[in-house]
Amino acid sequence: TPTIGVLALQGDVAEHQRVLDTLGVRTTRVLRPEQLDDIQGIVIPGGESTTMSKLAVRYELMEPLRKLVREGLPAFGTCAGMIMLADRILDGIEGQQTVGGIDMTVRRNAFGRQTESFEAHVDVHGVEGEPVEAIFIRAPWVESVGAQVQELAHIAYGERAGRIVAVRQGGLLATSFHPELTGDARIHRLFVEMVKGQA
Ligand code: GLN
Repeated sequence: TPTIGVLALQGDVAEHQRVLDTLGVRTTRVLRPEQLDDIQGIVIPGGESTTMSKLAVRYELMEPLRKLVREGLPAFGTCAGMIMLADRILDGIEGQQTVGGIDMTVRRNAFGRQTESFEAHVDVHGVEGEPVEAIFIRAPWVESVGAQVQELAHIAYGERAGRIVAVRQGGLLATSFHPELTGDARIHRLFVEMVKGQA
């Protein structure tokens, strides 16, 4: 079985590890560049992308992450982690850097402020069964994607209907919402299959 790293600079690291544990996957917290050598995939958690980005630079993880992702290391980002995997961001702070890898433009805090956090049920392409219960917390949405990017999920109803909230490009997966917070391991399972080369 693969070892999956969870970028542990900031955010809901333990929640991701807990879900991966239930899938029988080995996880390890990544805080130093050399720890990237021992993993077959990486999760970038939810949190605060501006802080995560600054810390990634300070801990000298930004450049190695960019290189590894470009070379094909599978990565899964949720919320702030989605922002980190975006090639382009809107409403970032001045100079906010990302790891990139997914040819998309992501708008930070697109759904509004903290009080506007909400839940929705979304169908996720590649995830069998019931729609996924999706928790959005000051979430980004995907404003636009390049030709290589597969749109996996959209908001189904309401004034945000049609907004893209999950995407995949090759070995890279990103969601606007937080599958690590609901006890539903299906999206993590999809990522694990991607890491194993089975999806
Ligand atoms: N709004 C946060 C950001 O810009 C993301 C929120 C989250 O990860 N729940 O990073």
